[in-house]
Amino acid sequence: MNDHEPDIAERKMQFLFALRSRGVTDKRVLTAMERIDRGPFVRGYFAARAYEDTPLPIACGQTISQPSVVGLMTQALQVSARDKVLEVGTGSGYQAAILSQLARRVYTVDRHKRLVVEAATVFRDLDLTNITALTADGSFGLPDQAPFDRILVTAAAEDPPGPLLAQLKIGGIMVLPVGQSDAVQSLIRVTRHEGGFDYDELRPVRFVPLLEGLGRDG
Ligand code: SAH
Repeated sequence: MNDHEPDIAERKMQFLFALRSRGVTDKRVLTAMERIDRGPFVRGYFAARAYEDTPLPIACGQTISQPSVVGLMTQALQVSARDKVLEVGTGSGYQAAILSQLARRVYTVDRHKRLVVEAATVFRDLDLTNITALTADGSFGLPDQAPFDRILVTAAAEDPPGPLLAQLKIGGIMVLPVGQSDAVQSLIRVTRHEGGFDYDELRPVRFVPLLEGLGRDG
């Protein structure tokens, strides 16, 4: 047996324990997070810290979110196996990979082409064939594939973008951080019903800002 194996197994156990102790209790979400190894989504210098419950830097000055926040957001989204999901803010691709275990189809968009290309490579390596990654300004949603059962935004806007609200199905749920980028933001859940939208405030969070247009590399 390789010397590293018990070490990794131990770290993965601690990883799952940290998720549970921070409120990720949904069995399907925990199973998805047990199946998808965060390792391949973290590169270079920070790879050794992939199993810590902490956000880490990735390319293009962005961050891979803290795993327990990924878990809590996924849980709040209440994804079912028939759902078509849009994620805005691919980043490393980790969140999209978790969603791919729970949904029928996942579309994920990022304004940085480099991040999209790198994430798509990991999806291919892991055989996650129900994810489509695209370079786009996600504040306009993805009109070609709309409407969506679920929308998850992993960058903070001051308000929920109108096109995303419009691309949510009746009965659909969107989870997103809102607030100024340099302050504490609130994670909110928007539920669309026949007559309009309901808003629930879930918890304080801190995300990078949702920016307009494509990144300079995209
Ligand atoms: N979900 C990611 C973390 C996202 S970090 C993960 O699991 O790793 C936020 C991402 O949102 C960044 O990669 C940033 O480039 C992207 N972003 C910011 N504004 C955007 C926009 N308007 N459209 C698409 N992506 C955007």
